[in-house]
Amino acid sequence: MKVLVINSGSSSLKYQLYDMTDESVLAKGLVERIGMDSSILTHKAAGKEEVVEVSEILEHNTAIRKVIDKLTDKTHGVLESVEEINAVGHRVVHGGEFFNESALVDKEAKKNIRALIDLAPLHNPAAIMGIEASEINMPGVPQVVVFDTAFHQTMPERSYLYAIPRVLYNKYKVRRYGFHGTSHYYVSLAAAEFLGKPIEDLKIITAHIGNGGSLTAIQGGVSVDTSMGMTPLEGLMMGTRSGDLDPAIVPYVMNKEELSVGEMNSMLNKHSGLLAISGVSSDMRDITDGWEKGEANATLAFEMYEYRLRKYIGSYAAAMNGVDVLVFTAGVGENSAIVRKAVCENLSYLGIEIDEELNKIRSGDPRRISTPNSKVDVLVVPTNEELVIARDTYRIVESNQD
Ligand code: ADP
Repeated sequence: MKVLVINSGSSSLKYQLYDMTDESVLAKGLVERIGMDSSILTHKAAGKEEVVEVSEILEHNTAIRKVIDKLTDKTHGVLESVEEINAVGHRVVHGGEFFNESALVDKEAKKNIRALIDLAPLHNPAAIMGIEASEINMPGVPQVVVFDTAFHQTMPERSYLYAIPRVLYNKYKVRRYGFHGTSHYYVSLAAAEFLGKPIEDLKIITAHIGNGGSLTAIQGGVSVDTSMGMTPLEGLMMGTRSGDLDPAIVPYVMNKEELSVGEMNSMLNKHSGLLAISGVSSDMRDITDGWEKGEANATLAFEMYEYRLRKYIGSYAAAMNGVDVLVFTAGVGENSAIVRKAVCENLSYLGIEIDEELNKIRSGDPRRISTPNSKVDVLVVPTNEELVIARDTYRIVESNQD
């Protein structure tokens, strides 16, 4: 079975075509600047030259048509015809309480994804556009939706409820949902597999730290707490997001600075975090460069980031009454030996001890960076959200064909 995985954003669309017989990626690419002039399509088939094409792509329907053109192109393509695509898997950010697992797309699923637009106003409309564009361009091909929130639907009430009037949950579903679920799920499974231990027996903390970041406590293979909340703003300090702050700051600053709701949202999501504190960049590479050179603002940004991350790891060890495995993943977690070292050095009270040489090794495979003496296995596991989407799509489509 060939599965096309689509991650549709408001102005971008990423894709990967999988051959599920061996889970190989036949081709992948990205359409950027949809709806703007000079849209850019970058396409790369396995074993072939990358192509970059600039044209006007005004909406997702055209983007998908162009992607199919590339996938079936004589020179750059990998398919004879579009009919070879057996299923499409979509990443959807918010599944709310409707979806605790991936689902086949039907009228009901689309209605529910639409009903969640209030909670994910930037993300869910883009997913709907991707789904409908796929329906137009690949009529009759089964589609599956895979949600960032679904893995966290196992959280108990004590984790997901906020200590505010219950009516807000009953009326508006104000609660913690959590995000990056496909990644937390994938790396926790991969970690258990790497260690050769049943996941049911493990207490795992997964740190998905990229530009956005979240931490998850996984006990017996299920999410019991996660640091992102009703929206991705809560929790860790991130590239441009503030993470946790006193909620009373919001009305106070809005009042003082005469800000609208949109402006306040934008300040906390796009102009805070590493960017705000360092004053120069949201990218951890720039922050650690500045820290190594002794620049004051970059040093403070680095210290705050590490301190907050470490406090969360401690709180999740407390939440599970222990931790067996700590996993680092995503852009910062997979690549920044400096961040991993700084965090782990300060977790010695948990019996964590990392091997500095192992920590410096770069590899695309799961690896251990803790010493044999360490009481906790510390691993770096490259995430692969697209593969989870392809696998779920394959499984669900297969089981519906029986
Ligand atoms: P997103 O959260 O947007 O999916 P990624 O998981 O790809 O992003 O993470 C991107 C971030 O990873 C960059 O902003 C950068 O801060 C960080 N990063 C990438 N490579 C390195 C590196 N070698 N050292 C430190 N940080 C890195």
